[in-house]
Amino acid sequence: MTNGTRPLTTCPACASRLIYPVSFASHPDRERVVIERCCPECDHSDCVVCDAVAAAVWGRRERSIRRELVRQVIALELDEILASV
Ligand SMILES: [Zn+2]
Repeated sequence: MTNGTRPLTTCPACASRLIYPVSFASHPDRERVVIERCCPECDHSDCVVCDAVAAAVWGRRERSIRRELVRQVIALELDEILASV
């Protein structure tokens, strides 16, 4: 388990900015959050402890990225369906 001197959203192994949170759990001190994260580029995974506000911001950012990806996938599928009609 590491502690926040490095940016939360940068992989400590390969410096990728694509590292994403896998799970959030409350820290025993109840003021911080333990985030399990995973890097899709080098498969590095670890746990970081950060304050609840930073965890909430990261969670929100990931959800909005996921929503955008889903929108793009649906748009591509629609294009394909329309092209095959
Ligand atoms: Zn990495």
